[in-house]
Amino acid sequence: MGDTLSTPLYIGRFAPSPSGPLHFGSLVAALASYLDARAHHGKWLVRMEDIDPPREQPKAADLILKALDVYGLHWDNSVLFQSDRSEAYDQAINTLLREEKLYPCTCTRKKLAGLDGVYPGYCRSQREIPNQPHSLRLLCSSSIIQFQDRIQGDQSFDLSTLGDFILKRKDGLYAYQLAVCIDDNFQGVTHIVRGVDILDSTPRQLYLQSQLNYPHPVYAHVPVITQNNGNKLSKQNHAPAIPLNNPRPLIIKALTAFGLKPEPDLLMNSVEEILSWGTKNWSMRNMAGKKEILQDSL
Ligand code: GLU
Ligand code: ZN
Repeated sequence: MGDTLSTPLYIGRFAPSPSGPLHFGSLVAALASYLDARAHHGKWLVRMEDIDPPREQPKAADLILKALDVYGLHWDNSVLFQSDRSEAYDQAINTLLREEKLYPCTCTRKKLAGLDGVYPGYCRSQREIPNQPHSLRLLCSSSIIQFQDRIQGDQSFDLSTLGDFILKRKDGLYAYQLAVCIDDNFQGVTHIVRGVDILDSTPRQLYLQSQLNYPHPVYAHVPVITQNNGNKLSKQNHAPAIPLNNPRPLIIKALTAFGLKPEPDLLMNSVEEILSWGTKNWSMRNMAGKKEILQDSL
């Protein structure tokens, strides 16, 4: 029998990639996971997903942590940096290779052009590790992956339409799908609250967790914030960095995005008081089934 007393009931996390400073869209994701963890009297961890140096910005990790601090989003334990975790990723890769759940893919970009990112399995029968550059792909059975999202409701994905996805890239970098599953498990994460823009990563992660014999966390995908032109707020769309000198108006705006109804005079309170109001009044009910929230409506 497991020692249930030492097993925390709720461990949540925010897992930013340091590709730029936090913008309002990422603040919304951070705050949702924070409030959900605090409302459950859980732990809230921060993990820096710095495994893709070509897409990273020097100083972004520091800026993100500084912004979280200014916005009162104080994390438990110390920040885990994925750049320190190669050994664990290699270990998992070796296990999967040994169990023939992974295979090397030598397809060129040219060969895969026009396939919309869904890999048709050309190298599926390849088992020997070739001398030439290759990626490692997870062999995905044709199965339907179902889960209950706390905000988006019942989800069902046909894994075979997503294709055998990459766990280690040709350039030697580890894929997000691999690192995220290993570290969520390593950190004991029980509840994941993140943007709905990565909803279709979740069936992949549920499948990979099964392949690694990990337990599955519970998921909630919050709506993304969009601009008038329909684009989601993102670094690619040049969303501005959140200000570090005046956090309260944006926290209140994010609470409004969640469908909570802060009184106008909440703005007169401190960051800590605003967050504790958010924790007390936290509910996902008004976000149910929503994929987008127009920034200008807030
Ligand atoms: N690092 C990912 C991102 O910033 C998020 C990962 C996650 O929450 O699972 O998009
Ligand atoms: Zn291939």
